[in-house]
Amino acid sequence: MGERRVIVIGAGVGGLAAAMLSAAQGLDTLVLERAAEPGGKLREIEVGGQTIDAGPTVFTLRDVFEDLFTDAGGSLDEHLKMKRAAVLARHAWADGSRLDLSGDVEANAQAIGEFAGAAEARGYRAFAARGADILKTLDRTFMRASRPDPLSLAARVGFFDARRLMAISPFETLWSALGAHFRDPRLRQLFGRYATYCGSSPFQAPATLMLIAEVERQGVWYIEGGMRRLADAMQATAQRAGARFRFGVEATRLVVSAGRVVGVETRGGERLAADAVVFNGDVSALGDGLLGESARSAAAPTPPKRRSLSALTLVGVARTEGFPLVRHNVFFGRDYAEEFDAVFKRDRLPAEPTTYVCASDREDEGGAARDAERLFVLVNAPADGANTLTPEDIQSCETAATKLMQACGLTLEMKDFQRTAPADFANLFPATGGALYGPASHDWQASFRRPGARSALPGLYLAGGSVHPGPGVPMAALSGRQAALALISDLASTRRLVPAAMSGGT
Ligand SMILES: Cc1cc2nc3c(=O)[nH]c(=O)nc-3n(C[C@H](O)[C@H](O)[C@H](O)COP(=O)(O)OP(=O)(O)OC[C@H]3O[C@@H](n4cnc5c(N)ncnc54)[C@H](O)[C@@H]3O)c2cc1C
Repeated sequence: MGERRVIVIGAGVGGLAAAMLSAAQGLDTLVLERAAEPGGKLREIEVGGQTIDAGPTVFTLRDVFEDLFTDAGGSLDEHLKMKRAAVLARHAWADGSRLDLSGDVEANAQAIGEFAGAAEARGYRAFAARGADILKTLDRTFMRASRPDPLSLAARVGFFDARRLMAISPFETLWSALGAHFRDPRLRQLFGRYATYCGSSPFQAPATLMLIAEVERQGVWYIEGGMRRLADAMQATAQRAGARFRFGVEATRLVVSAGRVVGVETRGGERLAADAVVFNGDVSALGDGLLGESARSAAAPTPPKRRSLSALTLVGVARTEGFPLVRHNVFFGRDYAEEFDAVFKRDRLPAEPTTYVCASDREDEGGAARDAERLFVLVNAPADGANTLTPEDIQSCETAATKLMQACGLTLEMKDFQRTAPADFANLFPATGGALYGPASHDWQASFRRPGARSALPGLYLAGGSVHPGPGVPMAALSGRQAALALISDLASTRRLVPAAMSGGT
């Protein structure tokens, strides 16, 4: 079995997951990564002598990783210590109001009742039930399955179960669905914000995305040592199964022969043969020709107008006082519609941006003022790969965010920090234009437009946030699983590989 060679381009979550499973099947697996370390967007940076998470901070769907590590011959617990968050996030508004969410529907309903009245509590219960229902319908038929088209999704859900199919609400926007559950604009904002988890606007995304609130309700976890430990654990497990990693190596061309990918060329001019290649960068890189002319046909690039959100982030050490920060905090701007208009319609930074603050040194207890703590601050931003945002635009957005947090009670003074603007993200992740989540989910077809694990080019498989089932750490891992399943099954059909059992089926 071992003589079949798989090359994985990219050690992001999707590439790491594919490498873990491919190596565990006895395939000779080599991972090429242009950066110096694994993780891709799941990265940490060093500021003022401290390492701080600078990418994803909210870890959900832990069971996706439990299954993955088990199937790769390891176990999640042997590598990572995790603790379930009691407070999912603390939400704050400039009128001084605050609301914490937990994983308990009844506790949330009670908190919402005290926050906004009994009718809103009833609205929340109905909203939570609807989100749970959608997740139940799509978990096995969409998220953890190969990419369906609308017809095959209907078949998987059950053609004759029209109620279940319509309940996923693909033709209504998330915002209008929220209007049916909540009269209080603060609650519409709070639950609308979940659309940004896949880089989209709640005003354009389908109501199906209500399921994201349910995913979060089912569990958010703190990973001891920071999120990056997850990438390290994935690399270690893949290595133990026999995968090899080469960092600082960029793939610049896919070698195609007789209409099939047969190898990879690196920037250093090396040519490496492969029976199958997994590409974990943004699929736009293929259509844009970054992997050579013959690979252009493998996947279409995302048109700039369909790109998802980027971000403006500040990562550093700060003095904080006046607000009981927990791990995850959100400070809401006063005009949510204007914020998304600015970002998606005018390609500008919001005038008063809703601001997310991850206080890495804290968990559920909102502690007192601190003289120096590690913070990750993020506001939504347009995918500005063309670098049209000026330093003045960025400065005025940061000032507006600081003022908003102050209006919500938090005085925050960044002492030592590193800024990452959309153009910086565009440089870090080729062909994204700075968009962090592949294409936006702005209509019901968006989920079906994402490519599946098998590209249009035989021998080339796709994994990552721009591929089915979409962005987010667990989703990228699921895409890596699909890529591994597809290539294992294709190589097995050439009779030289007998796949071992794996959950999700081979
Ligand atoms: C600021 C930020 C906050 C986020 N917050 C959350 C969150 O809280 N929770 C959550 O679940 N998700 C979050 N996400 C999204 C999540 O991080 C991503 O969806 C996920 O990590 C993407 O994984 P991926 O498999 O697409 O790989 P990527 O992370 O995109 O990595 C791809 C890798 O491929 C490498 N590569 C590309 N081209 C080549 C080449 N030609 N040769 C060699 N190597 C190449 C790149 O260097 C990179 O390392 C966030 C993302 C960002 C940026």
